[in-house]
Amino acid sequence: MDASVDFGHLVRRRPSAVVRPRSTGEVADVVRNAAANGVPVAARGRGHSAYGQALTDGVVVDTSTLAAVHDVGDDRIVVDAGAGWDAVLAAAWERGRTPPVLTDYLGLSVGGTLSVGGIGGTSFRHGLQTDTVLALEVVTGDGVVRTCGPGDELFAAVLGGLGQCGIITRATLRLVRAPTHVRRFELDYDTVAAAALDQVRFISEGRFDFVQGQVRLGESGRRVFLETYSEGGGDLPFLEFQHRLDAAEALLTESGAWFHPHPWWNCLLPASTAVDFLTALVERLTPEDLGEAGCVLFYPVFSAQVRAPLVRLPAERIAFLVAILRFPPDDAALAARHVAANRHLYEEARERGGVAYPIGAIPFTAPDWHHHFGDQWPSLREWKSRYDPAGVLTPGPGIF
Ligand SMILES: Cc1cc2nc3c(=O)[nH]c(=O)nc-3n(C[C@H](O)[C@H](O)[C@H](O)COP(=O)(O)OP(=O)(O)OC[C@H]3O[C@@H](n4cnc5c(N)ncnc54)[C@H](O)[C@@H]3O)c2cc1C
Repeated sequence: MDASVDFGHLVRRRPSAVVRPRSTGEVADVVRNAAANGVPVAARGRGHSAYGQALTDGVVVDTSTLAAVHDVGDDRIVVDAGAGWDAVLAAAWERGRTPPVLTDYLGLSVGGTLSVGGIGGTSFRHGLQTDTVLALEVVTGDGVVRTCGPGDELFAAVLGGLGQCGIITRATLRLVRAPTHVRRFELDYDTVAAAALDQVRFISEGRFDFVQGQVRLGESGRRVFLETYSEGGGDLPFLEFQHRLDAAEALLTESGAWFHPHPWWNCLLPASTAVDFLTALVERLTPEDLGEAGCVLFYPVFSAQVRAPLVRLPAERIAFLVAILRFPPDDAALAARHVAANRHLYEEARERGGVAYPIGAIPFTAPDWHHHFGDQWPSLREWKSRYDPAGVLTPGPGIF
């Protein structure tokens, strides 16, 4: 993908240079030079953000050339941050292991998801991907290579830190035993409220090992269902399940829809308001709002499992991820209407105690970011001035 666009195809920013580093040292050289000259720098993983998060008119550091798997043990794996989760899973799998949390789509980079959170259907049990990191190597905005781990300030500044304080170059990630097969279920519901209440029951009882939910709006009407799996028994190979979106990606790539605008919307809502919000949302959405391949995704996580302070969650025991994954036709005016609708929906979610999961296409102002980070805002500001004193890192989200 061209470094001036991302998966969202809503924002275009032409970089003055794209660097494909061969080592951490080269990343440090680039950042040091950029900082000395006041040139913005943004790391790019796989460019799957929806709203210009990885774009800049300065220097793009394309981390796809830093994608090695260095070491795999029973309980951990050491990888370069440009490695895709598909490569991490493949290397872990050779030893019968897996990362505890995988995103639905594996073509995302480790650095890209650790910068936002990384949520999946096992997050109710293991937290986000940011909760499964044992150590990081980071090039901070002053061009210095540093290492950090749990308890370190830099670790807190970088995980879920939207690239503001450093570029992650290497990560040590926790691994767990992988099931060879899973028993997968699709459970249909009449209402999204009934489905969401069952999700809460399932994660509380620990009945399944993976829990998600979807709403699809097709010609034959609305379908609400949960997708779950159990690790005991079953005949669906675990790897096949994890690669479940590959076929859809191939189809959408062939049809061109993969390259259309994707005004996606992602927020986390407290369980106490999520069900009513979801119900009203689903009543309102039309098939045109989602497009043929689109859906609403929803599933709960236990907030206490999510420990990285910059990954924001509603202040309640259970939070629901709610995502509107739109696949509209290639129509700029329609995309602009969707982005405006996203903003409106964000305000509604926020009134109900929701926070953005900042990967989507929701226009945000500097005061919105202040509100987003809440009690962590003073820390982020302090960390930014300490680790990126020239203020050159990752301008895309527009935080500073
Ligand atoms: C089809 C699809 C499915 C998805 N499924 C999920 C899902 O199941 N769960 C989920 O949580 N998310 C999901 N996402 C969202 C995705 O996790 C985020 O958009 C993620 O940031 C994209 O990773 P990337 O490698 O493409 O990063 P980019 O889009 O390239 O970058 C994202 C942000 O991180 C910064 N960044 C990138 N690399 C680094 C680095 N090494 N160090 C510091 N900062 C860095 C960038 O500058 C940018 O600000 C999905 C997105 C798509 C398009």
